[in-house]
Amino acid sequence: MRVGGHTSCVALSTDGGVPRLLLDAGTGIRRVPALLDGGPFRGTIVLTHLHWDHVQGLPFFPAGDRDDAEVALLLPAQGDALEVLARGMGPPHFPITPDGLRGSWTFGGIEPGDHEIEGFHVTAAEVPHKGGRTFGYRVEHAGASLAYLPDHGPKGCGEGPDGLGARHPAALTLAGDVDVLVHGAQFTLAEQAMAADFGHATVDYAVALATEAGARRLVLFHHAPGRTDDQVEAIAATLSDAPMPVTVAAELLSLDL
Ligand SMILES: [Zn+2]
Ligand SMILES: [Zn+2]
Repeated sequence: MRVGGHTSCVALSTDGGVPRLLLDAGTGIRRVPALLDGGPFRGTIVLTHLHWDHVQGLPFFPAGDRDDAEVALLLPAQGDALEVLARGMGPPHFPITPDGLRGSWTFGGIEPGDHEIEGFHVTAAEVPHKGGRTFGYRVEHAGASLAYLPDHGPKGCGEGPDGLGARHPAALTLAGDVDVLVHGAQFTLAEQAMAADFGHATVDYAVALATEAGARRLVLFHHAPGRTDDQVEAIAATLSDAPMPVTVAAELLSLDL
Protein backbone atom coordinates (compact mmCIF):
# COMPACT_ATOMS: atom_id res chain seq x y z
CA MET A 1 0.00 0.00 0.00
CA ARG A 2 2.89 2.41 0.63
CA VAL A 3 5.82 0.95 -1.28
CA GLY A 4 3.71 -0.19 -4.20
CA GLY A 5 3.68 -3.38 -6.22
CA HIS A 6 4.72 -2.28 -9.69
CA THR A 7 7.96 -3.61 -11.16
CA SER A 8 11.13 -1.81 -12.23
CA CYS A 9 11.01 1.54 -14.00
CA VAL A 10 12.93 4.73 -13.19
CA ALA A 11 12.21 8.00 -15.02
CA LEU A 12 14.85 10.73 -15.36
CA SER A 13 14.41 14.33 -16.34
CA THR A 14 16.56 17.44 -16.31
CA ASP A 15 15.85 20.97 -15.19
CA GLY A 16 12.30 20.22 -14.10
CA GLY A 17 11.29 19.03 -17.56
CA VAL A 18 9.25 15.95 -18.40
CA PRO A 19 11.12 12.62 -18.31
CA ARG A 20 12.97 11.75 -21.50
CA LEU A 21 14.98 8.77 -20.28
CA LEU A 22 13.45 5.67 -18.72
CA LEU A 23 15.45 2.87 -17.15
CA ASP A 24 13.53 -0.38 -17.65
CA ALA A 25 9.93 -0.86 -18.67
CA GLY A 26 8.42 -2.89 -15.86
CA THR A 27 4.83 -2.24 -14.90
CA GLY A 28 5.97 0.88 -13.04
CA ILE A 29 6.01 2.52 -16.47
CA ARG A 30 2.26 2.91 -15.98
CA ARG A 31 3.10 5.69 -13.51
CA VAL A 32 5.05 7.69 -16.11
CA PRO A 33 2.10 9.24 -18.03
CA ALA A 34 1.19 11.17 -14.86
CA LEU A 35 4.59 12.89 -15.15
CA LEU A 36 4.04 13.97 -18.77
CA ASP A 37 1.35 16.65 -18.37
CA GLY A 38 -1.01 14.72 -20.64
CA GLY A 39 1.53 14.62 -23.45
CA PRO A 40 3.15 11.73 -25.27
CA PHE A 41 6.43 10.14 -24.23
CA ARG A 42 9.24 11.39 -26.45
CA GLY A 43 12.51 9.88 -25.41
CA THR A 44 14.50 6.72 -24.88
CA ILE A 45 13.84 3.58 -22.87
CA VAL A 46 17.01 1.72 -21.87
CA LEU A 47 16.57 -1.84 -20.60
CA THR A 48 18.91 -3.60 -18.19
CA HIS A 49 17.74 -7.00 -19.47
CA LEU A 50 14.66 -8.74 -20.76
CA HIS A 51 13.24 -10.54 -17.73
CA TRP A 52 9.47 -10.11 -17.43
CA ASP A 53 9.56 -7.74 -14.48
CA HIS A 54 11.62 -5.29 -16.58
CA VAL A 55 9.60 -5.33 -19.83
CA GLN A 56 6.01 -6.21 -19.07
CA GLY A 57 4.90 -2.59 -18.82
CA LEU A 58 5.87 -1.98 -22.43
CA PRO A 59 2.47 -2.79 -23.97
CA PHE A 60 0.60 -0.97 -21.18
CA PHE A 61 2.23 2.46 -21.48
CA PRO A 62 -0.44 4.80 -22.90
CA ALA A 63 1.96 7.74 -23.33
CA GLY A 64 4.12 5.58 -25.57
CA ASP A 65 1.23 3.99 -27.44
CA ARG A 66 -0.27 7.00 -29.22
CA ASP A 67 0.29 8.51 -32.64
CA ASP A 68 2.45 11.40 -31.40
CA ALA A 69 4.80 9.23 -29.29
CA GLU A 70 8.46 9.04 -30.31
CA VAL A 71 10.33 6.27 -28.55
CA ALA A 72 13.77 4.74 -29.00
CA LEU A 73 14.14 1.47 -27.12
CA LEU A 74 17.62 0.12 -26.39
CA LEU A 75 18.42 -3.29 -24.92
CA PRO A 76 21.74 -5.02 -24.23
CA ALA A 77 22.95 -5.88 -27.74
CA GLN A 78 22.03 -9.44 -28.72
CA GLY A 79 21.00 -9.99 -32.32
CA ASP A 80 18.01 -8.19 -33.85
CA ALA A 81 16.52 -6.16 -30.98
CA LEU A 82 12.93 -6.21 -32.26
CA GLU A 83 13.03 -9.93 -32.96
CA VAL A 84 14.40 -10.66 -29.48
CA LEU A 85 11.72 -8.51 -27.81
CA ALA A 86 8.99 -10.05 -29.95
CA ARG A 87 9.78 -13.50 -28.56
CA GLY A 88 8.17 -12.33 -25.32
CA MET A 89 5.74 -9.73 -26.70
CA GLY A 90 3.92 -11.17 -29.67
CA PRO A 91 1.41 -13.88 -30.51
CA PRO A 92 0.58 -16.17 -28.78
CA HIS A 93 1.88 -14.36 -25.66
CA PHE A 94 0.42 -10.96 -26.63
CA PRO A 95 -1.72 -9.78 -29.56
CA ILE A 96 0.90 -7.46 -31.09
CA THR A 97 4.67 -7.29 -31.40
CA PRO A 98 6.47 -4.16 -30.12
CA ASP A 99 6.45 -2.51 -33.55
CA GLY A 100 2.64 -2.66 -33.41
CA LEU A 101 2.60 0.07 -30.77
CA ARG A 102 1.34 3.41 -32.09
CA GLY A 103 3.69 6.33 -32.65
CA SER A 104 7.26 6.21 -33.88
CA TRP A 105 9.26 3.42 -32.25
CA THR A 106 12.79 2.26 -32.98
CA PHE A 107 14.49 -0.78 -31.47
CA GLY A 108 18.22 -1.23 -31.10
CA GLY A 109 21.03 -2.69 -29.08
CA ILE A 110 23.33 -0.85 -26.69
CA GLU A 111 26.90 -1.96 -26.08
CA PRO A 112 28.97 -1.54 -22.93
CA GLY A 113 30.71 1.82 -22.79
CA ASP A 114 29.83 5.49 -22.80
CA HIS A 115 26.84 6.95 -24.60
CA GLU A 116 25.08 10.30 -24.93
CA ILE A 117 21.34 9.70 -24.60
CA GLU A 118 18.68 12.41 -24.34
CA GLY A 119 21.22 14.87 -22.95
CA PHE A 120 22.49 12.43 -20.31
CA HIS A 121 25.90 10.78 -20.20
CA VAL A 122 25.13 7.07 -19.84
CA THR A 123 27.72 4.42 -18.99
CA ALA A 124 26.66 0.83 -19.64
CA ALA A 125 28.46 -2.17 -18.16
CA GLU A 126 27.69 -5.86 -18.17
CA VAL A 127 26.95 -7.22 -14.69
CA PRO A 128 26.50 -10.79 -13.46
CA HIS A 129 22.87 -11.99 -13.32
CA LYS A 130 21.20 -15.17 -14.52
CA GLY A 131 19.37 -15.99 -17.72
CA GLY A 132 20.36 -13.38 -20.27
CA ARG A 133 22.75 -10.53 -20.91
CA THR A 134 22.30 -7.91 -18.17
CA PHE A 135 23.65 -4.39 -17.87
CA GLY A 136 23.88 -1.88 -15.08
CA TYR A 137 23.91 1.82 -15.89
CA ARG A 138 25.41 5.02 -14.57
CA VAL A 139 23.69 8.23 -15.64
CA GLU A 140 25.30 11.64 -15.26
CA HIS A 141 24.17 15.16 -16.00
CA ALA A 142 25.47 18.56 -14.88
CA GLY A 143 27.54 17.13 -12.05
CA ALA A 144 24.81 14.83 -10.69
CA SER A 145 25.07 11.06 -10.93
CA LEU A 146 22.93 7.96 -10.41
CA ALA A 147 23.85 4.30 -10.70
CA TYR A 148 21.16 1.72 -11.46
CA LEU A 149 21.78 -1.94 -10.61
CA PRO A 150 18.39 -3.58 -10.11
CA ASP A 151 19.31 -7.17 -10.95
CA HIS A 152 22.82 -7.98 -9.97
CA GLY A 153 24.19 -11.32 -8.77
CA PRO A 154 27.73 -10.57 -7.58
CA LYS A 155 28.32 -14.13 -6.37
CA GLY A 156 28.53 -15.03 -10.04
CA CYS A 157 31.94 -13.33 -9.90
CA GLY A 158 33.07 -14.77 -6.57
CA GLU A 159 32.42 -14.64 -2.85
CA GLY A 160 34.04 -11.27 -2.22
CA PRO A 161 35.95 -10.29 0.93
CA ASP A 162 33.06 -11.11 3.30
CA GLY A 163 31.12 -13.81 1.47
CA LEU A 164 28.44 -11.35 0.30
CA GLY A 165 29.66 -11.39 -3.31
CA ALA A 166 32.45 -9.92 -5.38
CA ARG A 167 32.73 -6.17 -5.69
CA HIS A 168 33.66 -6.56 -9.32
CA PRO A 169 35.03 -3.77 -11.51
CA ALA A 170 31.77 -3.13 -13.40
CA ALA A 171 29.77 -2.48 -10.24
CA LEU A 172 32.51 -0.36 -8.69
CA THR A 173 32.87 1.71 -11.85
CA LEU A 174 29.15 2.32 -12.18
CA ALA A 175 28.65 3.16 -8.51
CA GLY A 176 31.95 4.99 -7.91
CA ASP A 177 31.38 8.21 -5.90
CA VAL A 178 27.83 8.35 -7.22
CA ASP A 179 25.18 10.60 -5.66
CA VAL A 180 22.61 7.80 -5.60
CA LEU A 181 22.96 4.05 -6.02
CA VAL A 182 19.67 2.35 -6.86
CA HIS A 183 20.29 -1.32 -6.10
CA GLY A 184 18.28 -4.52 -6.00
CA ALA A 185 17.08 -5.38 -2.49
CA GLN A 186 14.89 -8.42 -3.01
CA PHE A 187 16.75 -10.66 -0.56
CA THR A 188 17.94 -10.46 3.04
CA LEU A 189 21.10 -12.01 4.41
CA ALA A 190 19.03 -14.96 5.70
CA GLU A 191 17.91 -15.54 2.10
CA GLN A 192 21.45 -15.41 0.76
CA ALA A 193 21.40 -18.89 -0.78
CA MET A 194 18.23 -18.12 -2.74
CA ALA A 195 19.62 -14.75 -3.79
CA ALA A 196 22.69 -16.42 -5.26
CA ASP A 197 20.54 -19.09 -6.92
CA PHE A 198 18.35 -16.43 -8.55
CA GLY A 199 21.31 -14.28 -9.60
CA HIS A 200 20.55 -11.50 -7.15
CA ALA A 201 22.33 -9.83 -4.23
CA THR A 202 21.34 -9.27 -0.61
CA VAL A 203 20.63 -5.92 1.01
CA ASP A 204 23.83 -6.36 3.03
CA TYR A 205 25.75 -6.63 -0.22
CA ALA A 206 24.09 -3.44 -1.48
CA VAL A 207 25.39 -1.58 1.58
CA ALA A 208 28.85 -3.14 1.20
CA LEU A 209 29.03 -2.15 -2.46
CA ALA A 210 27.78 1.37 -1.75
CA THR A 211 30.40 1.71 0.99
CA GLU A 212 33.29 0.45 -1.08
CA ALA A 213 32.27 2.51 -4.12
CA GLY A 214 31.78 5.68 -2.07
CA ALA A 215 28.11 6.09 -3.02
CA ARG A 216 26.56 8.96 -1.09
CA ARG A 217 23.05 7.51 -0.86
CA LEU A 218 21.61 4.02 -1.28
CA VAL A 219 18.09 3.41 -2.56
CA LEU A 220 16.72 -0.08 -1.92
CA PHE A 221 14.81 -1.07 -5.05
CA HIS A 222 13.22 -4.17 -6.63
CA HIS A 223 11.61 -5.36 -3.38
CA ALA A 224 10.44 -8.94 -2.88
CA PRO A 225 6.87 -8.96 -4.22
CA GLY A 226 5.51 -10.93 -1.27
CA ARG A 227 6.76 -8.60 1.43
CA THR A 228 4.53 -6.12 3.22
CA ASP A 229 5.38 -2.44 3.59
CA ASP A 230 6.28 -3.02 7.24
CA GLN A 231 8.60 -5.87 6.35
CA VAL A 232 10.38 -3.79 3.70
CA GLU A 233 10.81 -0.91 6.12
CA ALA A 234 12.01 -3.28 8.86
CA ILE A 235 14.78 -4.46 6.53
CA ALA A 236 15.84 -0.86 5.93
CA ALA A 237 15.83 -0.27 9.70
CA THR A 238 18.43 -3.02 10.16
CA LEU A 239 20.75 -0.93 7.96
CA SER A 240 20.61 2.19 10.13
CA ASP A 241 24.34 1.96 10.85
CA ALA A 242 25.20 2.07 7.14
CA PRO A 243 27.68 4.85 6.37
CA MET A 244 25.24 6.55 3.98
CA PRO A 245 21.50 7.32 4.08
CA VAL A 246 19.41 4.32 3.00
CA THR A 247 16.05 5.01 1.36
CA VAL A 248 13.28 2.54 0.57
CA ALA A 249 12.17 3.06 -3.02
CA ALA A 250 8.41 3.54 -3.32
CA GLU A 251 6.28 4.27 -6.35
CA LEU A 252 6.46 7.96 -7.30
CA LEU A 253 9.39 8.61 -4.98
CA SER A 254 11.07 11.64 -6.53
CA LEU A 255 14.76 12.46 -5.96
CA ASP A 256 16.20 15.86 -6.83
CA LEU A 257 19.93 15.55 -7.58
ZN1 LIG B 1 16.36 -10.29 -13.79
ZN1 LIG C 1 14.24 -8.05 -11.88
